[in-house]
Amino acid sequence: MSIDDGTLVIVVSGPGGVGKSTIVEKLVAHDPQLWLSRSWTTRERRQGESAEAYEFVSRQEFEDNIAAGGFLEWTDFLGNYYGTPTPNPPSGRDTVLEIEVDGAQQVKRINASALLLFILPPSRQEQKTRLRGRGDAAQKVEKRLRKAEEEEPVGKAIADYVIINDDLESTVEEMSRIIAYERKQRIAG
Ligand code: ADP
Ligand code: 5GP
Repeated sequence: MSIDDGTLVIVVSGPGGVGKSTIVEKLVAHDPQLWLSRSWTTRERRQGESAEAYEFVSRQEFEDNIAAGGFLEWTDFLGNYYGTPTPNPPSGRDTVLEIEVDGAQQVKRINASALLLFILPPSRQEQKTRLRGRGDAAQKVEKRLRKAEEEEPVGKAIADYVIINDDLESTVEEMSRIIAYERKQRIAG
């Protein structure tokens, strides 16, 4: 991952169910300069989830790739592995990583100039409603809500920007404005 070719590494992080995937999908659809990294995971595919959402792999395949040094960062999140394969964006494109807080910390450590956008829900109740609405099982919802209590203070402390995802369109606009601003800063600086 080059850090001085003028392109951005944009890390979108936040607790489960806050809307990260939904936001990132819209950002990438509207901005051809963005290149979305596709993560690996050992979790099962959700009902109705696209086969392209992740590279779905076995624990053995994941561990083999760790041993081969094939990840920029990886973590164990609620019993499953998730990881970003070493990014290889097309020339001139800004890389987008949609990852949880431990991974975001790792990326910041490797690349201090990575831009960390940390997303929060308007309330815990709304986060719960979104997780249930997405079809997560009740037990998983509770685990993710408890995990969010740990993740949020860390995420806020290391974030460059904290954004509350209340109205989806406003959030996407706000993030697009931040990205445009940061691009100008990189060119100027
Ligand atoms: P994450 O990637 O953070 O786990 P998702 O993108 O899967 O979250 O979103 C969780 C659920 O919340 C999805 O059903 C999504 O459609 C919904 N959602 C996302 N953003 C909003 C929003 N601003 N208002 C209402 N629902 C939202
Ligand atoms: P989910 O199971 O809801 O798809 O993802 C669980 C959590 O893992 C989410 O917070 C998601 O952003 C995060 N995640 C997805 N891919 C990666 C990755 O490559 N690395 C890390 N560290 N987290 C990831």
